[in-house]
Parts: sequence; C-alpha cells; structure tokens
Amino acid sequence: MKRCDCCGNTYDKAFEITMEDKTYTFDSFECAIHRLAPSCDHCGCRILGHGTESGGETFCCAHCAKQKGFEGAVDRDPADAGAQPSSV
Ligand SMILES: [Zn+2]
Ligand SMILES: [Zn+2]
Repeated sequence: MKRCDCCGNTYDKAFEITMEDKTYTFDSFECAIHRLAPSCDHCGCRILGHGTESGGETFCCAHCAKQKGFEGAVDRDPADAGAQPSSV
C-alpha cells in the first residue's frame, strides 16, 4: 500500500503526481492540492485552475494581480467583453 506524502495515510487507491521531476504520492486530491497547488500571491487562496502569472508572481485571478499593481492583467481577452452571440 502506498503512503500519502501529505498526511501519511496508507491507502490502496493512492495515486502519484510528478511535478518538476519529483514524484509524490497522495491518498486524495485534497492532500495533493494542499501540498502542491500554488497559492495566490495576493489573497493566498489555492489556485486550482490556470490562474494568471504577472512579473513572476502567481495570482488566482486578474483582480488579485491588479491589487499588486499589474494593471495589464486580464481574465479574458478584452475583445470578447460585451460580445454578443452572432446569428441565432
Ligand atoms: Zn493524504
Ligand atoms: Zn487571489
């Protein structure tokens, strides 16, 4: 049985994740996130989606990046904002 690298639980359905040439074993996604997911440099929440990177810092969303002074950060292409679906 494999042992979780986060909480130490041994579990027959544990799985492995390889990040930057290191392989970790986890018993749950919760543990994997706790150990490996990056956190937002502004609000501190775990980034589970793509997040956004500005100036070498990682943020959960453009709002947080802007709070740190990265004014150009966007969650989506401004060209899409307010775009209406074309023919219905
Ligand atoms: Zn665990
Ligand atoms: Zn944030």
